Amino acid sequence: MASKATATDTDARQMEYSTYAPAGETCPACTKPIKPLEGCRRGMLTRPVMAPAVAYWHNECAPKGVA
Ligand SMILES: [Zn+2]
Repeated sequence: MASKATATDTDARQMEYSTYAPAGETCPACTKPIKPLEGCRRGMLTRPVMAPAVAYWHNECAPKGVA
């Protein structure tokens, strides 16, 4: 997907952001490991019976917050 820098990209109030995952992190969406050099999305994973925890998603697996 081509990503063009435009004025509409300035809304960055979302919690998740693009980063790199530590070694051994697994994507909660597809349950596959995230490669250390693979770009990913960081965010909080909330579970009913557990405290929220930091999680990393593949870019293509990350919950979409903006169009
Ligand atoms: Zn994934």
